[in-house]
Amino acid sequence: MANKSILVVGGGISGITAAVEAAEVGYEVFLVEKNAYLGGKVSQINEYFPKLCPPNCGLEINFQRIRKNSKIRVLTLAEVEGISGQEGNFDVTVKLNPRYTTDGCTGCGKCAEVCPVERADAFNFGLNKTKAAYLPQPFAFPMKYVIDNTACTGASCGKCAEVCEVKAVDLGMTAKTMNLNVGAVIWATGWDSYPVEKLANYGSGTVTNAISNIMMERLASLTGPTSGKIVRPSDNKEPQNIAFVQCAGSRDESHQKACSSVCCMATLKHISYVKKQYPDAKVTIYYMDIRAMGKHEDFYNKIKEYDITMIKGKPSEIKEDAETKDVIVLAENQITQEITELKYDLVVLATGMAPATAAAQVPAAVGYDVDGFVLSGSVPGIYAAGCVAKPGDVASSVQGATAAVIKAIQSTVRG
Ligand SMILES: Cc1cc2nc3c(=O)[nH]c(=O)nc-3n(C[C@H](O)[C@H](O)[C@H](O)COP(=O)(O)OP(=O)(O)OC[C@H]3O[C@@H](n4cnc5c(N)ncnc54)[C@H](O)[C@@H]3O)c2cc1C
Repeated sequence: MANKSILVVGGGISGITAAVEAAEVGYEVFLVEKNAYLGGKVSQINEYFPKLCPPNCGLEINFQRIRKNSKIRVLTLAEVEGISGQEGNFDVTVKLNPRYTTDGCTGCGKCAEVCPVERADAFNFGLNKTKAAYLPQPFAFPMKYVIDNTACTGASCGKCAEVCEVKAVDLGMTAKTMNLNVGAVIWATGWDSYPVEKLANYGSGTVTNAISNIMMERLASLTGPTSGKIVRPSDNKEPQNIAFVQCAGSRDESHQKACSSVCCMATLKHISYVKKQYPDAKVTIYYMDIRAMGKHEDFYNKIKEYDITMIKGKPSEIKEDAETKDVIVLAENQITQEITELKYDLVVLATGMAPATAAAQVPAAVGYDVDGFVLSGSVPGIYAAGCVAKPGDVASSVQGATAAVIKAIQSTVRG
């Protein structure tokens, strides 16, 4: 008999899309997300290109669809440990990590008010701190606090448990295992920034004022570490001379070969963030070519109306002025053949999108391409969706997710 359950792994926009599309045609869906909240990287983005609207509106529509659909079971702080069986009949083991708050948490935040310990805020890439009892992000779904057991001092403190009026804090929670049987699996674990630590000629992450493009999203966000004010990390100075370095770790034989396809658009968007705050700031882009495909070319032309210096060339070295913490960029301008060594207040590295499977592979014998992106359907019944299959923007990720749902439904019928 057909098993009409589908496991979706990864609760970013691709996984959410797959989950709601499958559930809305009657399939039982388990949506497994390793973070304490759904939304993935989209929830960290300040504005969507090319309309420059806030991504939280689109996410909220999807959260409503999840809330209304009893066929979707959302499992946050969860990871798939094992998959066995075959198309139509997979046995899956899921590890549920403790949140240390129960479903009764109302999100009032009193636990965080009394918590005496701080930890780096992962949502903002460590640019600020939260308490050990924290809301993972301002629009968290589910809107429930989490306690970071690596920072929390435990029951010997217990202030959070004392103050919680609904008794939702449980510092004794432990990890649990859950076994599922599903007809098909959609793997949608997305992407991570290509690690700057691997970019030795760009300082391996030691240049304080050279940040990644996704950090720029948080820096510009009203809910970010500086309430939306773009400042440089070393001294909170307002940057007046900013460079954007494209293809940092992508389109590169020594790193990731693929083009991430969104970084040019992301940089053009970041220039709009900068120019809105600092109209007189000097902006330079180091690029190989600007990939603003199709309708996105209009956005490129609009941004070019700002006074921008374009240097065609990939910098050979990025280093720090030890005294001022300014960022020094060495490059050859391929058009003029001029070798330049220029100083900037802030540099934004357009780090490419690496597949999340570089950190955690699919626990099944699926195939991968040369950069580690998952080959969808290489094991019958296991399909990849979104940026874990191919780097791309939200529109293409959503299309990939709906395509994966059709394949998954076919597998449940065939199995
Ligand atoms: C700087 C920057 C700006 C961007 N701006 C835009 C923009 O303006 N407009 C646009 O259309 N696109 C933009 N993008 C692209 C956009 O971020 C992606 O299209 C989108 O994030 C793809 O969603 P996803 O669900 O495939 O992956 P993700 O957003 O990465 O979501 C994957 C989810 O899976 C979870 N996960 C990972 N591993 C596991 C695991 N082992 N088990 C369980 N869960 C796991 C993650 O926690 C995450 O929640 C931008 C990209 C960058 C780099």
